[in-house]
Amino acid sequence: MWIWDIRLSSLLAVINTAVVLLLLADYYAVWRHRPRRLPFYLALLLIGAGGVAVGNALWPASGFYGQVYGESDFQSVSGSQFRPVAITFDDGPSPPYTTELLAVLRAYHVPATFFLVGEKAARYPQLVREIHGDGHEIGNHTWDHRDLLQISRVEAWQEIDRTNEIIQNLTGVRPQLLRPPHGFRDRTIIDMAGQRGMRVAEWTVMARDWQNPGVDVIVDRILSGVSPGAIILLHDGDGRDGVTPRRQTVEAVKRIIPALLAQGYTFVRVSEIPWPMDWRQPVEEEDHSRDN
Ligand SMILES: [Zn+2]
Repeated sequence: MWIWDIRLSSLLAVINTAVVLLLLADYYAVWRHRPRRLPFYLALLLIGAGGVAVGNALWPASGFYGQVYGESDFQSVSGSQFRPVAITFDDGPSPPYTTELLAVLRAYHVPATFFLVGEKAARYPQLVREIHGDGHEIGNHTWDHRDLLQISRVEAWQEIDRTNEIIQNLTGVRPQLLRPPHGFRDRTIIDMAGQRGMRVAEWTVMARDWQNPGVDVIVDRILSGVSPGAIILLHDGDGRDGVTPRRQTVEAVKRIIPALLAQGYTFVRVSEIPWPMDWRQPVEEEDHSRDN
């Protein structure tokens, strides 16, 4: 559909202009004592449509603009004993926290997924090699953490491609996953990822660890939100300058991993989480027959 080719920002600009014109028309009609409020209601409708368009670009679990990892609850339809969980770290690599997390992951023999900022990967190449060498998955978190909804297509391509290149140069592997900064995406971004053979990875549970709310709070928020198929969002770095400490996250992970292992979870890389399209309809029917 043609509307999919429009960037969210352009769509919002059109809606804004239309709303202003409609409200002016409404004002004029009321002023002329012809209170047919059709323009007013049309404006309300457009504002609602704009809200839906924005909400789905920001909401991690939305499949509105295209399928993403983290879209839905895997366990509600899988009916299997398999309890996969993926733990992910954004905004690194970032010493000393990335190194400390790698040590924790090594101690428990569990894989993770690191969504790297390209510019930081270039600054800390050895850390990138270590992440890869330990068998973790590496995803693309753009070159310098810019909101992909607020830049042009050309700039977005640069953000994605430069980051893929540095990661491939350092590890020999091209990332299969894109996690847009803040998870914000529109149809264009999801299509761009697809054109590079990548899938967009969102998350299902987060602890807002970037606010450093305390180790207990981070642990509680994650453990209470995890279900089979969960994708956990945490941070080993800082989206801006890497100055915010991530000590709390490291300490929390030391408790989260053993707790989930004790609950029978299996840690997997994000690309090992079942893709929504693969299980959505058919598995659900099978699951019902088993329950009844
Ligand atoms: Zn980020």
